[in-house]
Amino acid sequence: MSVTQSQIVQRGLTNRCPNCGGKTLFRADKPLQLHSECPQCRLKLEREEGFFLGAMALNYGVTCCVFLAPIALLWYYGVLGNTVAAVVAIAAALLVPLLLYRSSRSWQLMLYYFFLPQHLPANRRELSGSEDENV
Ligand SMILES: [Zn+2]
Repeated sequence: MSVTQSQIVQRGLTNRCPNCGGKTLFRADKPLQLHSECPQCRLKLEREEGFFLGAMALNYGVTCCVFLAPIALLWYYGVLGNTVAAVVAIAAALLVPLLLYRSSRSWQLMLYYFFLPQHLPANRRELSGSEDENV
């Protein structure tokens, strides 16, 4: 059964394997460590060295745009004082990337397979099955 792009988005937003939908992306004993491949379907999660640099960029972008920019605007317009803005910004800069660590890796997988769904083994089997019918 092939995986649709909407399923890939749903699985990406809920930290699930894009191929089988299992809650198997991260190791149970080390919650911040990604499996090298999905234990259920054997999808290779880190496709190549540096594959998750995109996840770091996503994490950085979300931290800056969603959390730090509003704090800077509140400081700029005088809603937050200097000390409060600095403390909140430093706390957000330290905590938010840690909180988004797992999600950003899942988002990276989601984006990759959203644009290249034919790279999922579930979709490849579908394609090879249809090719067999034509032969
Ligand atoms: Zn899987």
